[in-house]
Amino acid sequence: MLTARIFNLQKFSIHDGAGIRTDVFFQGCNLRCGWCSNPESQPMEPLPGEKTTEYTVDALVQELLKDKPFYDESGGGVTLTGGEALLHPDFVLALTEALHREGVHVAIETAACVSEETFARVLAAVDFAYIDLKHYDDSKHRAGTGVGNALILKNISTALKGKTPVVVRIPIIPGYNDSEADYAGFAQTLTSLGAKEVQLLPFHQLGESKYQRLNLPYAFDGIKQMKNSDVSAFAVALEQAGLQVQIGG
Ligand code: SF4
Repeated sequence: MLTARIFNLQKFSIHDGAGIRTDVFFQGCNLRCGWCSNPESQPMEPLPGEKTTEYTVDALVQELLKDKPFYDESGGGVTLTGGEALLHPDFVLALTEALHREGVHVAIETAACVSEETFARVLAAVDFAYIDLKHYDDSKHRAGTGVGNALILKNISTALKGKTPVVVRIPIIPGYNDSEADYAGFAQTLTSLGAKEVQLLPFHQLGESKYQRLNLPYAFDGIKQMKNSDVSAFAVALEQAGLQVQIGG
């Protein structure tokens, strides 16, 4: 039977798509971003002491349907995130199909670092996608996340040519991807890929206490959170390149 390990179900989310949503956080990620606010989500198996739940598709659908009246009233639905939801493609496809049968809108939030075949299959099934791009430069992407960006850029390009609406999300990380050269680099890369809409997510410290609790090293210890106004020059540069920009989720 198909199952997947979920480390959090966040109800009443208003930051990951339209309306009121439930965010489904899948355990496991194939990136290792130094700023990750969910470090406990990275290994496929939970860290000692971390509470996760292994769901069947049916059990998860039943749980998610409890909030259907809120989705319906607000134009919301369910957002599949993580970790990396696309590391569970068969489960995600079965879950999406089951939620669609119940009339629930399904969005996905992904770093798109999976095979082109898997990516295309899931993307065609969902109603909306947020795709993260952490850096336009391959070697800097590798330095920040542990993987290069070639496959991710290929998948973003495929997604932007498809029917599913896509917004590219850039987490803005101090000293990593927030210089004027970076604005230009992202603008050039995104326009050449055919992106239209971009969301900038200013660096926050919501994960800081988790690193302390889990006794994990944290490269961004004590780094100041960014305000929306800290990324306005970045937004202007992207707008000048013809992109539609939103700051914050
Ligand atoms: S892709 Fe997301 S979940 Fe994975 S390590 Fe990076 S920030 Fe964390």
